[in-house]
Amino acid sequence: MPAFVDTARITVKSGKGGNGAVSFHREKYVAAGGPDGGDGGRGGDVILQVDDHMSTLMDFRYKRKYVAGNGMDGTGKRCTGKDGEDMIVKVPLGTVVRDAESGQIICDMSTREPFVLARGGNGGWGNKHFATPTRQVPNFAKAGLPGQEREVVLELKLLADVGLVGFPNVGKSTLLSVVSKARPKIADYHFTTLVPNLGVVYLEEGVSFVMADIPGIIEGAAQGAGLGHDFLRHIDRCRLLIHLVDVSGREGRDPVEDFEAINEELKQYGEHLATRPMVVAGNKADIAEDRSLLEALKAHVEAKGLPFFELSAATHQGVDALMKYTAQRLQDLPPIQVFEPDYVPAPPKVDTSGEVTIEKVDDVWMVDGPWLQRLMANVNFGDVESRNWFDRILRESGLFERMEAQGVRDGDTVCLYNLEFEYRK
Ligand code: GDP
Ligand code: MG
Repeated sequence: MPAFVDTARITVKSGKGGNGAVSFHREKYVAAGGPDGGDGGRGGDVILQVDDHMSTLMDFRYKRKYVAGNGMDGTGKRCTGKDGEDMIVKVPLGTVVRDAESGQIICDMSTREPFVLARGGNGGWGNKHFATPTRQVPNFAKAGLPGQEREVVLELKLLADVGLVGFPNVGKSTLLSVVSKARPKIADYHFTTLVPNLGVVYLEEGVSFVMADIPGIIEGAAQGAGLGHDFLRHIDRCRLLIHLVDVSGREGRDPVEDFEAINEELKQYGEHLATRPMVVAGNKADIAEDRSLLEALKAHVEAKGLPFFELSAATHQGVDALMKYTAQRLQDLPPIQVFEPDYVPAPPKVDTSGEVTIEKVDDVWMVDGPWLQRLMANVNFGDVESRNWFDRILRESGLFERMEAQGVRDGDTVCLYNLEFEYRK
């Protein structure tokens, strides 16, 4: 049986921009035409998109690398190279994406908004861009900029209003199947549920909520004693927990102890889960021969200020009351948690000590160098902060001093790849 996969680590790479072309217009009877070298195409992006048919991260187990297409080089006759093909990576709703190195959240795919995870490099300019009245035969073009490569961790956190928690075999799957169309596996032995199940509970007109049944929590799971702890991530977002406890006494268990053991597991996972609003339901009341266990749990729970319901998922006794109460509570609780990105792309380290050529071609200063190319691939010129970062790196690199030493003066035109600007000190 394939294991349920709800985390994955993948590498994504966007495409490189195509190179610009050097070409001149040729026509019969026309001695020398103007420059007509087209630009390189843009490299493809890597884009994340929610696919509602996916419910696990299984696909990522075998395919770990996602690469977008490179832009094609420009050609003559002003032909722009074809853009590289985007790579669309489909993920299940509720996938949280983190930077593999820092663990910071990059995005939470809990809406249907696509997200660009790696931007393709811009294509280089063809020589048609470099023609001026005084420079009619530009014999150069620009290289395309590289794409971005990054490693990320995907983590599925289901989107449910209500999470069912409790020991294995207490009746969680049964309850979900009774109140929704979900058909989780139900069996009279422990650890039956291996995958989380979601069900929609419809009450009256217009009132509904989503309930999740996760694999049973095993005592000690938070210390890694087995299956379970990992699955708690799926109730991370839940607005309310329904804590099911077997009060039948059939397995010789003590409901109060069970209740506390699960609470301890929640606490080990995180304080935020331990303090999540909770309703407690004593299940299998139909076969409780000794009602004192049920009464003891009720007293224990109510002393903590938590609501308690007597339940039989099997005979449906108390199910309606519990669902009505749940719907009512949800009205006053905050919405399902969406994780805010806390990832600020760390500016890549660019070693600016490498070779740079500064050359005057006609009336334009052409500045070239491998590190400049790398630097520019990481600048988003539509973003002020990114531009400021770029400007700072350039200043700190001493490039401007080097340029002035070569004779660059205020007002001169400078060309850095796809950026042409007037030099100002
Ligand atoms: P889960 O592991 O918590 O999901 O538990 P299940 O829903 O798989 O139920 C475990 C067993 O308990 C199954 O055999 C169910 O039929 C049985 N069961 C669940 N709820 C009740 C109940 O209210 N009364 C009785 N008598 N049996 C129940
Ligand atoms: Mg189950």
